[in-house]
Amino acid sequence: MAYQHILLAIDLTEESGQVADKAVAMAQQGETQLSMIHVIEPLSFAYGGDVPMDLSTIQEQLDEHAQQRLETFADNLGVPVAQLHVVSGHTESEIHRVAKEIGADLIIVGSHGRHGLSLLLGSTANGVLHGAKCDVLAVRVQESSA
Ligand code: AMP
Repeated sequence: MAYQHILLAIDLTEESGQVADKAVAMAQQGETQLSMIHVIEPLSFAYGGDVPMDLSTIQEQLDEHAQQRLETFADNLGVPVAQLHVVSGHTESEIHRVAKEIGADLIIVGSHGRHGLSLLLGSTANGVLHGAKCDVLAVRVQESSA
């Protein structure tokens, strides 16, 4: 049975296209709705009260920039703006929250073949898998060699 509603998590890195191609191909297999999410982790999470300045203007600019980038990315894939979610908070919990809110039955994330310290620290894909109330597909991404 085909999925009804896929939530595609996009981090707006160069590797996003690989994950999105898979999601679009799956959505085309059935009458599947495709929504996209990008989560912005607020600057205050990283800096807390340590920075003696008001971060709200910079935060607003970052939010707007992310919204525009996601819209451009989604437009190229034919995904309408109404199906885009740019939200602020912890990445994994926001993906879970929005998946539940829109009734997604599949979450698609990218996954790196990590080892060493980053494997110990865990990946977003791992975090999304734990606690998800629906299926999760981790698409293995080929890291771009810089
Ligand atoms: P990571 O392992 O943390 O590099 O992330 C791998 C995948 O997690 C990405 O390909 C996205 O699918 C998802 N992801 C990571 N960060 C975000 C974010 N800020 N918003 C939405 N999805 C994200």
